Amino acid sequence: MGEESPIKRVERLYRSSEEVRSVVGAIWKVAPQAAEAAGVDRVKIMDFCGTHEWTITHFGLRSLMPPQVELVAGPGCPVCITPGYYVDAAASLARDGVRVLTYGDAYRLQGTPRGTETDSLARARSEGAPVEVVYSVMDAVRRARGDGVESVFLAVGFETTAPATASPVTRGAVPENLTFINVHRLTPPITRYVFERVPGAPILGVIAPGHVSAITGAAAWEFVPRDYGIPAVVTGFEPLDVVLAVLEMLRQLREGRPRLVNEYSRVVSWEGNLAAKRAIERCCEVVDSAWRGIGFVEESGLAFRREFSRVDAAERYGLREPSPEDWSRDLPPGCRCAEVTLGAAKPTDCPMFMKVCTPGTPYGPCMVSQEGACSVWARYGGGGRAEEVARELGLI
Ligand code: SF4
Repeated sequence: MGEESPIKRVERLYRSSEEVRSVVGAIWKVAPQAAEAAGVDRVKIMDFCGTHEWTITHFGLRSLMPPQVELVAGPGCPVCITPGYYVDAAASLARDGVRVLTYGDAYRLQGTPRGTETDSLARARSEGAPVEVVYSVMDAVRRARGDGVESVFLAVGFETTAPATASPVTRGAVPENLTFINVHRLTPPITRYVFERVPGAPILGVIAPGHVSAITGAAAWEFVPRDYGIPAVVTGFEPLDVVLAVLEMLRQLREGRPRLVNEYSRVVSWEGNLAAKRAIERCCEVVDSAWRGIGFVEESGLAFRREFSRVDAAERYGLREPSPEDWSRDLPPGCRCAEVTLGAAKPTDCPMFMKVCTPGTPYGPCMVSQEGACSVWARYGGGGRAEEVARELGLI
């Protein structure tokens, strides 16, 4: 038998039912004390990454939680929050003959609703417009350089994908015939927005995103306990990672000592990926940016610096920032995607969920990407049979 790969080993250890069961047992013991110390009936803990929401839902972790703990999905899906304006602009360029390249998730993303009609790159392509799905920015660079076709890359994503855009731009590796629609967004500003602007029960714990933190470093989340008195744990993506993070935050609440812990130190360092951060900093400046259905969030987006305006599709094709009028009608009638994104509603609170809106026929943006909360819940179920599962596990 060959040697076990590190990835397989992590999966085996971090998915071990024995280990998870033992941590969940501790959560059931600590949760009532944590809720009492925090002065709430339920401790609301938010994840800020679509993959964490996938782990929580796919592995049924929500159903293992005691009644005093609520796990809610936050703004962790970059495709869901990409304003429809950019999809409209990209589809329009494609119809004008400019080849549009993008990641697969954004290919089906809807543009701004207009009556019963909604545009998308998939639709433009079905009409014969030049739209191609690529696997990476370098894939886009290679295609543009290889055939010389005038091309635009629809660059969506958080801090995780921003370095991939910044790297060829800062190295001067982008051919003349390629520009970028830059829709990169930043996660800490939207986290502040959730704390400060979203009504309802307060968030009392943050499962900080593992992928983003691999770039930003765990230190990017220091503001959560410092400025808001809320525990935060940078967390990996296996079931044991998530339940350990929940237990750690409950203990902190019980002790009244919120702090930042890096549970995912096997991947995330305190200071992050310095080369990637330098590339982003050199390439882009931080600007106020629109989030789909939510509006402008202060200093939450990246825009190319003046010296790189040559690669900026906004400059070349006269695109603008979405206006308040654009983003205020950015969701189709009845879609609660903005509330789902901000943790103010569950996907199942939406009357369209799994009726008119399904992964096969998405009506709203949170059902399009595999990372969208509605899509995750549609595929794996939201979970809610806490007591039944707890009894099965012998926890109560
Ligand atoms: S189920 Fe569909 S329509 Fe409802 S909030 Fe989610 S994406 Fe929007």
